[in-house]
Amino acid sequence: MGAAILGNVKLTVGWLYPDLMNIYGDRGNILTLLRRAEWHGHEARLVELGRGATDAMADVDIFFFGGGQDREQALIYDDLRQFKQESLQRAVGNGAQILAVCGGYQLLGHYYQTADGERFDGIGLIDVRTEAGKKRFIGDVVVQADLENLSPSTLVGFENHSGRTFLGRDAKPLGKVLLGKGNNGSDRREGCVQGGIIGTYLHGSLLPKNPHLADHLIAAALKRRGAGVLSQLDDSAELAAHGWILQRAQRR
Ligand code: GLN
Repeated sequence: MGAAILGNVKLTVGWLYPDLMNIYGDRGNILTLLRRAEWHGHEARLVELGRGATDAMADVDIFFFGGGQDREQALIYDDLRQFKQESLQRAVGNGAQILAVCGGYQLLGHYYQTADGERFDGIGLIDVRTEAGKKRFIGDVVVQADLENLSPSTLVGFENHSGRTFLGRDAKPLGKVLLGKGNNGSDRREGCVQGGIIGTYLHGSLLPKNPHLADHLIAAALKRRGAGVLSQLDDSAELAAHGWILQRAQRR
């Protein structure tokens, strides 16, 4: 058991564009964050931040920005720039975290350019740029993560994207690709970490089979609120699923 939980903290999860940026089961990340925060003895509430919504963003501890095809990215783009960008920048500056998957990940960077050459300037929260190629990267992914104290150190999921993402100096990779393509299919790196922001191509959804990453986000949110360390949950089922995917990957 970790140190006793210092009181009951109210954690707020902000879901960016739940109706449009939510493909390949990404909503499972929201359910995992909310449930695990409660299993750890805290209260958790969800704020849905669809197009036009700006309220309560300053209260959010963890933002989730899911995946979406080029069409959905275009549909939320103007709202992201006009109604969310400044509040997200302020929130991250005040210690909030963001988990962004695929389409959401791409739009947090400098730009996302589609395979047709249409360029969407990103909101520049992370030092990455993305240009889509003709061939889509689709398949299982296994990553050796570089996040400190992450146990197990692997992350599993699947990818489905045409974007090739390249990191600048201020962003470091989330980890090394052991199976799959990751950021761009050439540098063997996946995702990015910059301050409290984690970007990744891992759908799945990601967090149910990577409970250690979910707790990494929750622990950081609790620390920001001055709460104690997380207790240890029984993750045998989740880690069995994680391990099965690792074994399947090794049989490839
Ligand atoms: N449209 C983007 C791409 O194809 C993101 C796709 C996604 O979110 N899965 O790279």
